[in-house]
Amino acid sequence: MLNFRNTTVLFVLLLVVLMVLNFYMHIPVFIYIALALIYSFILFLGSYFIQLNFYIKAICKSETTKKEIALSFDDGPAVSFSPEILNVLEEHNVKVAFFCIGNRIEGNEKIVRDMYEQGHVIGNHSFSHHFWFDLFSSKKMLADMKQMNERMKDVIGVAPKLFRPPYGVTNPNLKKAIIKGDYTTIGWNVRSMDTVINDEKKLVEKMKKAISPGAIILFHDTSKTTLNILPEFIKYVKAEGYSITRLDKMLNLNPYA
Ligand SMILES: [Zn+2]
Repeated sequence: MLNFRNTTVLFVLLLVVLMVLNFYMHIPVFIYIALALIYSFILFLGSYFIQLNFYIKAICKSETTKKEIALSFDDGPAVSFSPEILNVLEEHNVKVAFFCIGNRIEGNEKIVRDMYEQGHVIGNHSFSHHFWFDLFSSKKMLADMKQMNERMKDVIGVAPKLFRPPYGVTNPNLKKAIIKGDYTTIGWNVRSMDTVINDEKKLVEKMKKAISPGAIILFHDTSKTTLNILPEFIKYVKAEGYSITRLDKMLNLNPYA
């Protein structure tokens, strides 16, 4: 399996081979540069695509043939549009996962309580969701993640154990923080791109095509497009014979510490 460790070992070996060869023949500099570029590119891909499990083993789907999927919503709680999304979910009796940002809890305590009391599960999506979160030290990352847990515990009485990295970016520091904090990393295998796609028809058609057994779908409860397509999407999923299961139940995980 191509993960961070194996990739690094492979490239160090290649480098050693080149250096040994260098005693016998001239190795042009560009070969070394090419090697460094390829290595950096693989590291970048591993960082960007959580599904590759390059740095961290993230759960991105359920290994099942059963027609069930789980919906997840990132970046709330948000006045626009978490409450309306909660209403739609309640209307259709669907339970989902909300990966909340800690610094958005203050002032939105009622929304968070509603999420929890209406039977949804709440995950940790960091406290700051800082743009440079992936450049934090592991200590700083863990402090940020724990701060979110503390704030959530103040409001709903439990601390999330399921963690979704901000922007889905992973790296060795995050791995350390996750292990130390005893979090379970949750990714997705279907990204709605609802922060980019504003065309409702386009989004709903894209999402209809994307469902498959065990899928974990990533939406944002800050997206008006998602709010608007949600009823049609839920109806379609059910009409196709799928059930929508709460993420932790589909994956058989303990959601709180
Ligand atoms: Zn996010």
